[in-house]
Amino acid sequence: MDINAIRKDFPILNQKVHGNPLIYLDTSATSQSPVQVTDAMSEYYNEYNSNVHRGVHTLGTKATDGYEQARMKVRSFINAKRYEEIIFTRGTTAAINLVARSFGDVNISEGDEIVVTEMEHHANIVPWQELAKRKNAKLVFIPLEEDGTIKLENVEAVMTDKTKIVAVTHVSNVLGTINDIKSIAEIAHKHDAYITVDGAQSVPHMSVDVQDLDVDFYAFSGHKMLGPTGIGVLYGKAEILDKMEPIEYGGDMIDFVDLRESTWTDLPVKFEAGTPMIAEAIGLSAAIDYINEVGADEILSYEQELVKYAYDKMSEIEGIEIYGPTEERAGLITFNLDGVHPHDLATALDSDGVAVRAGHHCAQPLMKFLGVSSTARASFYLYNTKDEIDFFIDSLKRTKEFFT
Ligand code: PLP
Repeated sequence: MDINAIRKDFPILNQKVHGNPLIYLDTSATSQSPVQVTDAMSEYYNEYNSNVHRGVHTLGTKATDGYEQARMKVRSFINAKRYEEIIFTRGTTAAINLVARSFGDVNISEGDEIVVTEMEHHANIVPWQELAKRKNAKLVFIPLEEDGTIKLENVEAVMTDKTKIVAVTHVSNVLGTINDIKSIAEIAHKHDAYITVDGAQSVPHMSVDVQDLDVDFYAFSGHKMLGPTGIGVLYGKAEILDKMEPIEYGGDMIDFVDLRESTWTDLPVKFEAGTPMIAEAIGLSAAIDYINEVGADEILSYEQELVKYAYDKMSEIEGIEIYGPTEERAGLITFNLDGVHPHDLATALDSDGVAVRAGHHCAQPLMKFLGVSSTARASFYLYNTKDEIDFFIDSLKRTKEFFT
């Protein structure tokens, strides 16, 4: 990887914050976009801005082509069998809500069990809580080990003949845990349950093959993978999506509308009522091109190098607590410094130009498990460098000295 060339593609990184060069370590919240992505979106607005699936005019056809090519690109990026299995949504949250509403309302009945973990982002807990309330079903939690990993025997242990859905994240946005989704899917299917995976933190950072994982649903967001906000993806197996009802109604998703009765069109547009996120899909498509060009495996191994480098250096700081597994972690580190509130820490780092996240990271049940109300988090991507990590570590040390 040519890191200097890569950084040139991200002009936002070339700025000063409070007089210091920006060091952006908050990719897990939102990644930065290269010019290739913003150019693709500007080109759409400047040259062929138009609605999709409707007009026969040149601009409309070009916009439809761009939008549908984006779908094809996503299909091959995650190796879905068919393009109909790719539904564009507003993001991971919207995708999981779609499954909980459309699939859940029909397939979950009183007394059924929905299996989740305590490491989930709120986006993969609250929709299931609400589904359980609507249906008088039960939420069951796979227990976590002390280091924030999941043991497969504990997945097996919570499964019963009432389990209908297992909803689990591929990568924890707090702990960096990488879950063994293929094995969890196998366990779910053995018990005739379905599996929904939150891929918000995995798809941007590693090769994901939904057929190999054999998952029923898989959700992710464009803005965490170099793409724009406002677009995400729900992958679902066609035979399951086919039987599901839309949760939004209106233009585009219909087949025929009469005054009192209407019918729906086929997948995937059945789930995409109204004007979709056209520029955003085109931006996401350019983001996938960018990742493919650099190479998903190269990105992963570079990030692994960065996270190991940061982990080793951070571990040497006295009074630091780092959460999550010591080995095999994704490119993020969540931590607390003894005697420094994470918000004070993030503010102090920001005054040095270092952007990290502080708070509960939309994972309050996990904070409870860790016995804290909030933490700080540094997360890395292909545009970060070891020099930046060195500066971040120095800033951490200065902050600790100041506060203690
Ligand atoms: N799941 C995980 C693991 C996340 O990290 C996030 C975002 O932080 C989400 C879900 C929600 O993603 P979005 O806000 O793009 O819908």
